[in-house]
Amino acid sequence: MSNLSISRRQAIAGLGLGSIASFSVLPALSQARAHVVVVGGGFGGATAARLLARLLPSSEITLVDPSPKYMACPFSNLVIGSDRPMEMQAFGYDALQAEGVVHANDRATDVDPTARTVTLQSGSSLSYDRLILSPGIDLRYGAIEGYDEATVETMPHAWKAGPQTLRLRDQLQTLPEDGLVVMSVPAAPYRCPPGPYERASLIAHYLKSAKPRAKLLILDAKDSFSKMPLFREAWQRLYPDHLEWRSAGDDGRVNRVDAETRRLFTDFEEIEADVANVIPPQKAGWIADRAGVTNTTGWCPIDAISFESALQSNIHVIGDATIAAPMPKSAFSANLQGKICAVAVARALSDMAPEPTVLANTCYSYLAPDQAVSITGVYSNEDGQISNVPGAGGLSPLDADISDRRAEAKQAEDWFRTITREAFG
Ligand code: FAD
Repeated sequence: MSNLSISRRQAIAGLGLGSIASFSVLPALSQARAHVVVVGGGFGGATAARLLARLLPSSEITLVDPSPKYMACPFSNLVIGSDRPMEMQAFGYDALQAEGVVHANDRATDVDPTARTVTLQSGSSLSYDRLILSPGIDLRYGAIEGYDEATVETMPHAWKAGPQTLRLRDQLQTLPEDGLVVMSVPAAPYRCPPGPYERASLIAHYLKSAKPRAKLLILDAKDSFSKMPLFREAWQRLYPDHLEWRSAGDDGRVNRVDAETRRLFTDFEEIEADVANVIPPQKAGWIADRAGVTNTTGWCPIDAISFESALQSNIHVIGDATIAAPMPKSAFSANLQGKICAVAVARALSDMAPEPTVLANTCYSYLAPDQAVSITGVYSNEDGQISNVPGAGGLSPLDADISDRRAEAKQAEDWFRTITREAFG
């Protein structure tokens, strides 16, 4: 497919530019002596901290994350469909520490942008010359009436990997033979635009093989979604009796839930689920609010070239927490933004201006455990904002041979291996 190959070449070119920029200034950067604090050790933060330790060997790089192990969301839908063990989602910080990054096993509870300090839950505080925030997302409790912190135990979102992932998997495993699974999907923007539909595919695959009389109903707050024709073609081919999608225009938007009775309410209907996977509306991780880098949308406006906050100087924001559309909120984006931001921070600490580059994103989505499709976007930040590069990017073709879908599933595995190795070693 020509579109796809163009986009892959451009995507690789994009990644290359990020690294070339860093290599050409390495000797100058290595002189800088500073303290960079990175809050959040996920795909964005771990990547940024690791690259900074290489770029600024005379500086101190501290990565703050309360978990000894990071649990990755990509591929967690396979865990939910009982096709992958949860242990394969866990990544530690040993490689980063071996390269000189200090892992503060703690939670950041406050940021003072004037004093340039980060307060930690343990009571201590860290001073920084530059701060990078990559805290991912938080859920907007209350955006759906009746959905609060307690509700997530009964109606798991599983939109942060870990115990929530296992809870949803376990609920599916104990679903009655003719049970109804209901998934509620929010309006954009949210983490991983095609993620709910990949999950729907893998849940339907599980039902088809383990509980053939059960069904999945998707209630959507949108009328269209990422890779929609590809998903719908696959659902028709693979799961015609197990999956139904209802758009916002067809009364799909969930306004209220009742966790006790596992009921979901749309404008005109009340649906009782045996398993309810409610993915609520989202916002930037709450520490971004404390740092004063969110605007009224709940997300973080940034300078598109350096990823420095548009609201606070010396604080950079990367990953899901940012307003970086048309770049999606994905691990691929967070990883690349981590690299670009690390180079920009290293340059700033060496009195060098940041440089524009080419950005890219590729997202694979499983249709079944051995079949996948992908979408690629290529972006430029040349004129100070992130915009699509016309003519670049592409989608897997519709009506492709099954061997193409299987080949993409293998490529997805390679992608996961590469990105997790890059971020965590
Ligand atoms: P995260 O990876 O969430 O990392 C945030 C880190 O910050 C966490 O470790 C957290 O502990 C830490 N943190 C938060 N607050 C604090 C604090 N106050 N103090 C200290 N630490 C803190 N993306 C893809 O590219 N491909 C996929 O196939 C894909 N599949 C997905 C499937 C699902 C089901 C989901 C939910 C997401 C998927 N994604 C995928 C999206 C991807 O997981 C996210 O976009 C990515 O993790 C964002 O990286 P991040 O660094 O912004 O945040």
